Amino acid sequence: MGSMQTGEESLDPQDWNQLRALAHQMVDDILTYQKTVRRRPAWQRVPRYVEKRFEAHLPLKGQLERDVYREFKRFILPYPLGNIHPRFWGWVMGNGTPLGALSEMLAAGMNPNVGGGNHVANLVERQVIDWLKEMIGYSKKASGLLVSGGSMANLTGLAVARNSKAGYDVRKNGLGGTRRRMVLYGSVEMHSSLTKAVEFLGLGRDALRCIPVDEAYRMDVDKLRIALESDLKSGEKPICVIGTAGTTNTGSIDPLKELADIASEYSLWFHIDGAFGAFAYLPKKSRQLVRGMERAESIAFDLHKWGYLPFEVGCILVSDAETHRRTFALDAGYLKHGTRGTAGGPIWFSDYGVQLTRGFRGLKVWMALKTYGVRKLSRLVQQNIEQASYLAGLIRKSNELELMAPVPLNVVCFRFKKAGFNDSRLNSLNQELLIRLQESGKAVVSGTELKGRYVMRCAITNHRSVRNDFNILVSEVQRIGNLLLKQSYS
Ligand SMILES: *Cc1c(COP(=O)(O)O)cnc(C)c1O
Repeated sequence: MGSMQTGEESLDPQDWNQLRALAHQMVDDILTYQKTVRRRPAWQRVPRYVEKRFEAHLPLKGQLERDVYREFKRFILPYPLGNIHPRFWGWVMGNGTPLGALSEMLAAGMNPNVGGGNHVANLVERQVIDWLKEMIGYSKKASGLLVSGGSMANLTGLAVARNSKAGYDVRKNGLGGTRRRMVLYGSVEMHSSLTKAVEFLGLGRDALRCIPVDEAYRMDVDKLRIALESDLKSGEKPICVIGTAGTTNTGSIDPLKELADIASEYSLWFHIDGAFGAFAYLPKKSRQLVRGMERAESIAFDLHKWGYLPFEVGCILVSDAETHRRTFALDAGYLKHGTRGTAGGPIWFSDYGVQLTRGFRGLKVWMALKTYGVRKLSRLVQQNIEQASYLAGLIRKSNELELMAPVPLNVVCFRFKKAGFNDSRLNSLNQELLIRLQESGKAVVSGTELKGRYVMRCAITNHRSVRNDFNILVSEVQRIGNLLLKQSYS
């Protein structure tokens, strides 16, 4: 009754029973929403009148939870990006799972800070990281950290690479401490997040050498060697080779073993971006594709793509835990690690990355791995790989479509073709086709450029897709393509 006398407030509900009833409604609604996702369009534009609602004034006075929730249901819930839909294959997304959504709720309900301290969430994250190492065949002794995604995982890995190979104390002296410029090597097909990381680490974008690829979009190892030799001759300081296991454009996998050999020959850090491709290690059939991954000094991958978990969660693993810690650990009086009490935890994840306060990402991973088991995840990855070859087969059989790159994994690049059309006409035809397809709500793929040609790109990290979804994609693309030819493009 204290607050009655003092007028103090909190953000807890005034009526717990009312919120409880609303909470049950929310759980029912969101599960139904996921269950019925197939009946809705894969994407639809946010209508103008809805856009308008999000240009509202700052609310000064509150309103009832249930009224806010009603607004959520009317104006937010119907207009998602669409990535939970069985026919969404744009960029590289993930569906998440109903269980994942519930795990998020439980994690937020507990709301621990997983930066450090003496509590169970740290143990959960440590457990999950140990499992992930085993799942992708990486060193048991490695350190790891759950992060927001592949971008943060790449940044974290390259930060450790830079500090470990600089040859002086970067943390103390900054980048002014070197006379030779540190340079890194990846292929022209590497992900833009690596460029961002190199820029952000102060190394400068020009320090990231983009090595050409072969016909199958894998880094050309001979060209890497030439670039290394030439940089050494001109006095640069090579520090790191970046291999990609599963490039975003085509799913190609760099020759990881050769890259590992070169890295050790030249004493370079070997980082792998395996954002989605690292999971090719799970099925026995695709495992050999990513051999060599175990030789990387650091490896970045996502769980919210081919791990099927809700956004956001990715992981960075570093083979030498102490080098990893030395890049980030700092002493501050208010953060002293102890042996007893709340500061007595066995591991402080804030010593291994940029963030101090960290959410309980580990819970959704822990619940998923225990519930599905690695065998099921592995079957789903295999299913997606088989769906990609099925789609490639449909495209090869079609007189109107053209496969535009090899399909080593789960990414299929193709375009609509027309006899007599040159690349530039086909480019604009396919660009329009892609948008019409998305606007139809039937399926979503995204576009990219391969060798100056515009292609449609279907990246299958979707646990809800079934074969027939790819039949639908192909027939829609053909239908829209022919329609466009009849209209302005003929
Ligand atoms: C998606 C992706 C990234 C970036 O990961 P985010 O989770 O989006 O930050 C990095 N590399 C590759 C190959 C990717 O496909």
